[in-house]
Amino acid sequence: MTFRLSKRAASLTPSSTAAVGRAAKALASRGVDVVDFGVGEPDFATPEFVGRAGVSAIERGLTKYTDNAGDPALREAIAEKYRREQGASCSPANVVVTAGAKQAVFNVCQALFEEGDEVVVFSPYWVSFPEIVRLAGAAPVLAPSSLDAGWKPTAAALERAASGRTRGVILNSPNNPTGAVVETAELEKILALCRARGVFLLFDETYDRFLYDGRRHVSAAHYTKDYGDLVVVTGAASKTWAMTGWRLGWVLGPADLATAISGYQSHSTSNASSISQEAARAALTDLASSDASVGRMLAEYARRREVMVKGLLSLPGVRCSKPEGAFYAFPDVSALYARKGVRGSSAFCERLLSEAHVAAVPGDAFGEDSCVRFSYATALPRIEEGLRRLAGWLTG
Ligand code: PMP
Repeated sequence: MTFRLSKRAASLTPSSTAAVGRAAKALASRGVDVVDFGVGEPDFATPEFVGRAGVSAIERGLTKYTDNAGDPALREAIAEKYRREQGASCSPANVVVTAGAKQAVFNVCQALFEEGDEVVVFSPYWVSFPEIVRLAGAAPVLAPSSLDAGWKPTAAALERAASGRTRGVILNSPNNPTGAVVETAELEKILALCRARGVFLLFDETYDRFLYDGRRHVSAAHYTKDYGDLVVVTGAASKTWAMTGWRLGWVLGPADLATAISGYQSHSTSNASSISQEAARAALTDLASSDASVGRMLAEYARRREVMVKGLLSLPGVRCSKPEGAFYAFPDVSALYARKGVRGSSAFCERLLSEAHVAAVPGDAFGEDSCVRFSYATALPRIEEGLRRLAGWLTG
């Protein structure tokens, strides 16, 4: 049968982070030893105490539907996280549990935006933001930042991108792909601008527990007292407790919006997995075990960051800022394009994979074609090997 795809499906750009993963896996399945800097997920196992809570949920028969918005005890644990860590004033009525942060962002955009709306997205951006905005019928408008300015999102960039049609702003801190963390004073200016324009701030803090050099995460949730009507935070268990496959995230926002999202979800996925919800509740409430395992992962990421950034900066023509959070380096390699006979980051990454067997994600996927994303969610010896190959390939 011939069929016609909906405009919605036909106009989608498939996730290029997933495409790199597929190409790397295809090479590896032919027996090639690929160093994979493409992955956007922790290489650690889910902490044992979290996994056990999932097993126990199965054993106790917690294998049925939950409330659409999520189990009340988990929603309370999420609200308590924001009260404890950010001094937020919030309750379970402000929380919806979702199947990962991706569904959280998707649901927020479905609930808030429509045809004719514009949504300002700070750039470089996580690949899915513009597509999720488009899937809601709205138009993404980019507010760029630069390597020279540490990839910092600024109120000035937002002001330039905003128009009378702007209904929302999407900010991700710590940022994927740059690792940049928004400055507190700048976040306050951005919030004031959102207030002046009457628009929502969607603040994605999927990497909120991974900040380096003792830096503390400042969330938009910290400002719920003054901005509770326009701040929407999305987060997840995915990276913090190495739980990407469990599919567990959340939205924290105005209670009316939470109710609308829960209703929307009741006709799509119903609820996040009951088993994953129990595991996430353990992760969020057993603070001692959680801090110990997150601390171990952060210490390891910090060691890898040093090696990755030092290695990249030792390569002639490569410029790179030091990531302040998350687990990605985002070097500018555009000075090498001419030498390698390529026009942009996609061709650069294709050749890097096929010739040096190193997988990385082209920056054009994140709105910045001069750069390439290297994930350091991979073991130190592999990082060292990948850097050796990269150096050999660039000078060869
Ligand atoms: N937001 C950002 C910034 C991300 O990097 C990711 C995952 N790569 C997500 C959201 C989605 O996370 P999840 O796996 O919880 O859906």
